[in-house]
Amino acid sequence: MITAQPDYQQVLESIQEEVRPLLGRGHVADYIPELRKASSERFGMAVYCLDGRTFSTGDADVKFSLQSVTKLFALALAFSREGDNIWKRVGREPSGNPFNSLVQLEHERGIPRNPFINAGALVITDILVSRFVQADVAVLQFMRMLADDPTIDFDMAVAQSEQKTANRNSAIAYFMKNFGNLHNDVSEVIDTYCRQCSITMTCSELAKAGAFLAKHGTVPWTGQEILDPSSAKRLNALMLTCGTYDAAGDFAYRVGLPAKSGVGGGILALLPGEAAIAVWSPGLEANGNSLAGTYALERFTTLTSRSIF
Ligand code: GLN
Repeated sequence: MITAQPDYQQVLESIQEEVRPLLGRGHVADYIPELRKASSERFGMAVYCLDGRTFSTGDADVKFSLQSVTKLFALALAFSREGDNIWKRVGREPSGNPFNSLVQLEHERGIPRNPFINAGALVITDILVSRFVQADVAVLQFMRMLADDPTIDFDMAVAQSEQKTANRNSAIAYFMKNFGNLHNDVSEVIDTYCRQCSITMTCSELAKAGAFLAKHGTVPWTGQEILDPSSAKRLNALMLTCGTYDAAGDFAYRVGLPAKSGVGGGILALLPGEAAIAVWSPGLEANGNSLAGTYALERFTTLTSRSIF
């Protein structure tokens, strides 16, 4: 039963206290050397309610590297332009494998399981590279518009750091090209993908940018329809089943919200019809999701008696 709207500020403040023992735990992503600089002691959380009220705690106004959280926005942009055509090139099933795994691609003939693992996100990037003159800038502009902030930007140090070490993603891209499921040059797709992943935002900005997906595809403060309600509902379903990789089942059990995570330690979660919630803490658990961030969202849905179930 949905109760009266909780006191979100109080909820966030108790969560801030509750996560304290977890800070400093987990593993900060270091396979992209530049990400290593983030401190696992950091924690921020923000709630953007669809009626415009906002709540935040801790480091909610510190920028962090969005990494795979951007896969959600790239997918929304591609889906809004290409519709169901994208499903000819990427699936909609959880992978049960790590986000950067190559193993399923051979069996499934270069068609990635879903758009949130790296292989699937590279296909989405390829679709955007075919569609836009500068696909990375198209994603950036889309996110600036959604966050209502023209200063959102790439972090070129992170983008270059990832480009230099992108051997695994390049292998994935070449493999898919071999199956005819990558239409542009591998180097162009990888460079575009790395720049997209390097976009930085704060929790407050991210919660606002994701709010359209909680509001059935419509930007709450302008009324602009980005996706029709049916498409927005489908992206929510993909977030629930695939947004936190091979931990998606456990995440649904513990948190019960559609969400998208990134190795920068950010997670965007949606409470459809009510709010978007962003959390950031760089220490990751083994699947590449924020350890304290996941716990914070688990406490959020418990303390507020809210989830999609
Ligand atoms: N840019 C990162 C990569 O491709 C994103 C991974 C992630 O956030 N899970 O490895």
